[in-house]
Amino acid sequence: MAVPQNRVTRARRNNRRSHDSLVAANPNECPNCGELKRPHHVCASCGHYNDREVVAMADEIDLDDEDAA
Ligand SMILES: [Zn+2]
Repeated sequence: MAVPQNRVTRARRNNRRSHDSLVAANPNECPNCGELKRPHHVCASCGHYNDREVVAMADEIDLDDEDAA
């Protein structure tokens, strides 16, 4: 089993971890539906990007529908 050759001091360990913090997401408003979305990503709620629909959204999924094959 690999064993550390040298002790890592608190200062060295903490300096290494100084870059580990997570940064908060920076959502902005969808110009089409107003929902918060990730920048430079297709809106998850309406499928629009740059004021046009690029992903068609299903209207409603009815799990009880007997006609569904
Ligand atoms: Zn949207």
